[in-house]
Formats: sequence, structure tokens, C-alpha cells
Amino acid sequence: MARLAQTAGLTDIQQEILSTVKTFVDKEIIPNAQELEHSDTYPQEIVDGMKEMGLFGLTIAEEYGGLGESLLTYALVVEQIARGWMSVSGVINTHFIVAHMISHHGTEEQKKYYLPKMATGEIRGAFSMSEPDLGSDVAAIKTRAKQDGDEFVIDGAKMWLTNGGTSNLIALLVKTDEGADRPHQNLTCFLVEKPEGYGEVTKGLTIPGKLDKMGYKGVDTTEAVFDGFRIGADAILGGKRGGGFAQMMDGVEVGRVNVSARACGISIRAFELAVDYAQQRSTFGKPIAEHQAIAFKLAEMGTKVEAAHLMMVNAARLKDSGERFDVEAGMAKLLASEYCAEVTQESFRIHGGYGFSKEYEIERLMREAPFLLIGEGTSEIQKTIISRGLLREYRAR
Ligand SMILES: Cc1cc2nc3c(=O)[nH]c(=O)nc-3n(C[C@H](O)[C@H](O)[C@H](O)COP(=O)(O)OP(=O)(O)OC[C@H]3O[C@@H](n4cnc5c(N)ncnc54)[C@H](O)[C@@H]3O)c2cc1C
Repeated sequence: MARLAQTAGLTDIQQEILSTVKTFVDKEIIPNAQELEHSDTYPQEIVDGMKEMGLFGLTIAEEYGGLGESLLTYALVVEQIARGWMSVSGVINTHFIVAHMISHHGTEEQKKYYLPKMATGEIRGAFSMSEPDLGSDVAAIKTRAKQDGDEFVIDGAKMWLTNGGTSNLIALLVKTDEGADRPHQNLTCFLVEKPEGYGEVTKGLTIPGKLDKMGYKGVDTTEAVFDGFRIGADAILGGKRGGGFAQMMDGVEVGRVNVSARACGISIRAFELAVDYAQQRSTFGKPIAEHQAIAFKLAEMGTKVEAAHLMMVNAARLKDSGERFDVEAGMAKLLASEYCAEVTQESFRIHGGYGFSKEYEIERLMREAPFLLIGEGTSEIQKTIISRGLLREYRAR
């Protein structure tokens, strides 16, 4: 029973997938999330369960062994998973982005080799643009690949790889110096296969260890140090140098819908916790939900949950219909992540002192929400994308 965040016009298959995932979230994720989060434990059993359900291949085409589902289905699944525990959505997000990039930009050999193994979860993807000195300013990438015969030699340090230790494939954006005037055209994306784990996992590539984060625990986020790492030219995504920036931005754009969906999931959970608590906790002789100040908070929270969900669904549907959706993805990401921060904060306030206790779920959501303001481009970067798009569309004549 839930009135908020419903989606009209879903097919029977979409409804079936969502109902299966929701049951999995309620039974397997929510009851275990607090303990796994506080002990910073990788959710292996949950990941195995998602593999069994075929979620790693949800959007991979049927001809490559996936379920061939749309971005909308994927986003609604992510919304449910993040409602349970955002870290679990982090496990599949980078994988989904890399599978999307290979599906849309890979050579036929790359698709045939990677996608079937990605669909089963045997190969799991991470993607790496950020470096210690840059995140928003992607064109300033310093990690460099120099050609040496049929191979390239990669040197440099990467930062903030979600699933850096637990993945075995990294979509890696590096500088290749094509000599193009625009810095964006001097970037190339390599598909780097590596063993899972930490330390020098293969010659010339070290994954130093898990970064200790404020929230978003369980899932590993790492650095990656390339020191004379050698890789063949056939590992270039799509086989052509210089196209890496556009390929990565395509991946990040669908990633923005994904981050919106995560924000929606956390907001839904924060609302559910607040509306429940507000009817159980009494002050001055009545449940706090009967004090208008609290009831109005619930009204505003519910409205934000609904608005964010609708914008997320709209962006996903635009993409699925083949329309340009950069502005809408930016808007959905901006609104959903900002609302998520507000809704969790209000839920926290409704919980009074108990909200500050690690026994209560809202404490975790309060630490998860801020990441969504940063990941896949900060709010300032979304506003840059949105305003550029609007000025292009509404150019003064
Ligand atoms: C937990 C976590 C997981 C991550 N996972 C990944 C991953 O898997 N792969 C990956 O590649 N990256 C990942 N990142 C990196 C993330 O994408 C970057 O942190 C993000 O893009 C912001 O970059 P930055 O941290 O370098 O901030 P900066 O770019 O240094 O920005 C700092 C501040 O300046 C503002 N700012 C920057 N430029 C402008 C401008 N032109 N106008 C106005 N304001 C501006 C920003 O909005 C921000 O407020 C992850 C980060 C975190 C925290």
C-alpha cells in the first residue's frame, strides 16, 4: 500500500520485475542494511541475490544474454533498491554505466566478449574519470596513455572509483594527446580488465584500499594508481582514439537518471519512516502527526517525493524514446538530489532525539543523501548544463 511515487503506463513485465525487486528489498535488504552499513561490510549475499534475479543484465540486449529492459525499468528498480540501502544501488550503477557505454560505443568484438559476461555478473564494471585534482573539470585529466608499438603505457592516479576493488573491468578515461584544439578531443576511453582485490592487482596497476567515507558504506570506493601499465590498442572503447569524452558523457547522462532514482528511493524511505513515527510518537497528549507543524512537514515531504519521481520518470522516458534528454536528466538529478537532502532532514527532525541514534534508519539516510548532491556532477554542474540547454533553446532573436 503506497500512494506516492506510482508510475502510470507500465507494462506487465515492468510491473512484475518491480514487484519481485520490492519484495527482495523488503525481505533481504532493509532488515540487513543497518548492520552491514555500520560494519562497512560488502553485501555479498545481496549481490548474489541480484545476480540470480538477472539485475546485472537488466538493460543488456537479449541477443547478448540480458533482459533488454529500458532505462525506465532500470531507474524504477534502482529507486526500490535505494529505498532499501543506497550502497546496493551503487554496486550495480557503475556496472550499468559501463554496459551502456559498451552497448552503444563498443566494437562488435567488444560487445560479443563483454556483454554476455556482464549480463551474468561474471564481469562487473567500474568507471573512472575523476582524479585527485579534478572531478567536475573532466577535460583537465592528467593520467596519460602513450603509444608504444601496438600497446599503450598508462601512467597516473585516479580517484573515487566506486567498485574499484570489487569490479574486474574499469572503463578508464585518459589523455592520449591527439593534438586536437579542443581538450575534450584528446581523451580516450580504455577497457581495463583486472583481477578483483587490493594492492598491486596486476603489473602496473595498484588499488590501494577502500576509502573511509561518511556514508555509502559497504560498497568500496577506491583510488587506482597506474605506473607503466601496458594495454593493447584493441582495449580502446570503439577502437578509436579521441572519442572518450563523448562516450563517458553519454554514460554519465544515463547515470544522472540513476542518481535521481537513488535520491527518489532515499526520499521515499525517509518519508515512510517519518509518517510512521509521527503517528506513534505523542507529545502534549496527542500523536505529533496531529500537530499542524508536523502534518505540514509531511505534506511538503510527500509533495517533494512525488515531484522528484515524476521528473525522474520523465527523463528516463525521454531517453527511452530516443529524444535528446541532457537538460531533463540534469533537471531530474538537480531536483531529486536537493529534495532528497531536504526530505531526509525533515524526517530526521520529526524523529526528534532518536533521529540522532544509530539504532534508527534515518541516521543512515542523513549520511547517504549528501553524496547525491555530488555524484555524477554537482548541483552547480547540473545548473550549468540546464542553463546552457535552455539558452540554446530560447536564444534571443
Ligand atoms: C563516494 C563517491 C563516489 C564516487 N564515484 C566515482 C566514480 O565511480 N567514478 C568517477 O569518475 N568519479 C566518482 N566520484 C567523483 C565525483 O564524480 C566528483 O567528486 C564530482 O564530480 C565532483 O568533483 P570534485 O570532487 O573534484 O569537486 P570539484 O570539481 O573540485 O568541485 C568543488 C566545488 O566547486 C564547484 N564547482 C566546480 N566547478 C564549478 C563551476 N564551473 N561553476 C560553479 N561551481 C563549480 C562544485 O560544484 C563543488 O561545489 C565519486 C565521488 C564520491 C564522493
